[in-house]
Amino acid sequence: MPVIVQKYGGSSVATTEKIRKVAETVIKRKEKGNAMVVVVSAMGDTTDELISLAKGISEKPDKRELDVILSTGEVISSALLAMAIKNMGHDAVSYTAYQIGMKTSGEYGKSLIEDLDIERITKSLNEKKIVIIAGFQGINEFGDITTLGRGGSDTTAVALAVKLNGTCEIYTDVDAIYTTDPREYNKAKRLKEIDYEEMLELASLGAQIMHPRSVELGQKYGVPIHVGLSCGEIQGTEIKEVNNMNMESKPVTGIATSDNNIAITINGIDQDKNILSNISEAIGSRKINIDMISQTAPMQGKVNVSFTIPKNDIDECTTIIKSFAETKNIFVDKDITKFSMVGIGMKTTSCAASKMFKLFTENEIDVKLITTSEIRITCAIKQEDKEKAVNLVAHKFNL
Ligand code: ASP
Ligand code: MG
Repeated sequence: MPVIVQKYGGSSVATTEKIRKVAETVIKRKEKGNAMVVVVSAMGDTTDELISLAKGISEKPDKRELDVILSTGEVISSALLAMAIKNMGHDAVSYTAYQIGMKTSGEYGKSLIEDLDIERITKSLNEKKIVIIAGFQGINEFGDITTLGRGGSDTTAVALAVKLNGTCEIYTDVDAIYTTDPREYNKAKRLKEIDYEEMLELASLGAQIMHPRSVELGQKYGVPIHVGLSCGEIQGTEIKEVNNMNMESKPVTGIATSDNNIAITINGIDQDKNILSNISEAIGSRKINIDMISQTAPMQGKVNVSFTIPKNDIDECTTIIKSFAETKNIFVDKDITKFSMVGIGMKTTSCAASKMFKLFTENEIDVKLITTSEIRITCAIKQEDKEKAVNLVAHKFNL
């Protein structure tokens, strides 16, 4: 029997009414002859509320204990969904991470899935039960509860689909993946399909649709991921390997923007000392993600260096930098929007970048920093230019 792994996000299970709706949908799919495994997120804004609750005790909650608290959100929704299904006369069982041996490694709050044990799940499926799994959680090598990072239930779902040889359907509050955020650009188009690599870039860049690691996992094991609305009235998006040999295909598939970064510039660094590598090492060792680095050409043995980091890490990061550079040489720019253009078509077409820069110049959009990959160009621009940039580029590339 084909196994379908579905994941329902927080908004799909926000109320008991909505949980009943999900139960009905799942039962219908089961009645069509499928083995159903359903991963759930916490109800609505539960995770945010649990974080606030913890912060009521301590500004910096103990990470181990915080994960214990956060894992409860998914436990509640999974049990409620199992109950709802049983009330409708079908058999169901809910499992927490512990019960399915969902092994994780790494830090609390951003753990990685190592493996999981499908024995119990398979047994339940053979007993014709609908299996409900609490997403977002795992158990580390110490037997402690961990969580996978915000939005991590997606990754739980893909990991299950990999292990169960199943297909994967992710139901969130978006009906599909769009060329760019429809709230920012109302002419954004729905994508029927998107390549793993493109989705990965978009997800990592701030299109908060999918947990990036879920896409990585899908790509690694070749599991296509369907994203959409559960009602099936609107066609969603298939994340899969897309063959881009088609001559008609576009160079650019999508745009993502993010306001979650700041830029730090350090002026007058001695070129011949290892200050830059020391700084990046120190920052990296705190797991702070440095991005978009640029360095000026040396002038009298000195260079200026700029890079972006997540907004939240500003205090920790400036403290580190102050141990390497004088305060008067450190500048923080909080007015940063990361604007990214993504497309596997860029591998073979070179005109996309020049077109974008031309548009920016003609429309007085200053570019502060640039990074590129084979399928992406990212520019740091002023926040006030974001809308203009999205509109211009989306229009130019027919997105
Ligand atoms: N409930 C968690 C969060 O809000 C995990 C998830 O939704 O996937 O981040
Ligand atoms: Mg959630």
